[in-house]
Amino acid sequence: MHTGELVEGVGRSDLRKKVFLRLEKLGALPENLDCYFANAICDALPPDRAANECKYVDADAPSNLRAARVLRADDVWRFIKAMKNWLLAGGGMEAKEEAERRASICAQCPRNVDVAGCSWCSGVFAASLELLAGRSTSVDASLKHCEVCGCNNRAAVHFPAAAVDPSLDYPEWCWKRP
Ligand code: SF4
Repeated sequence: MHTGELVEGVGRSDLRKKVFLRLEKLGALPENLDCYFANAICDALPPDRAANECKYVDADAPSNLRAARVLRADDVWRFIKAMKNWLLAGGGMEAKEEAERRASICAQCPRNVDVAGCSWCSGVFAASLELLAGRSTSVDASLKHCEVCGCNNRAAVHFPAAAVDPSLDYPEWCWKRP
């Protein structure tokens, strides 16, 4: 929703908070505030600044942006496609208690990282949430993406062990480690 109002903040989190409060007051809070917020920033910036400020990274992005973070949106898209195929093939989901246990491990893992670029802009976060069919854990807010395999952790914790790629080098505390 575009209200036409100018909202200013001293930094990104301050600005997000002000946008949140303003939209809440208007009764217009979108379900996906972070997506809305990121897109509004992209829209508001002039093209040259947007190119630098936007952290969306793909194979065509400048090298300084590509090097900014390790995990790229492409990696997460691979995960999303694999999980969709898994579900289409009749693969089920894990019990809630087990998903909760895994989520608590991922939430504290140093390899639980942001995806390169804006995961909302690139659509990977929204697509990951679609996989979940309403499932959640108590630590969803702390779940990002797994730097080892490119999974979206918020979704991955609900999938059975058989959906995990066992060939990767997970840290010793990881629930995916065979
Ligand atoms: S390495 Fe394991 S525990 Fe760490 S974020 Fe990835 S899946 Fe979670």
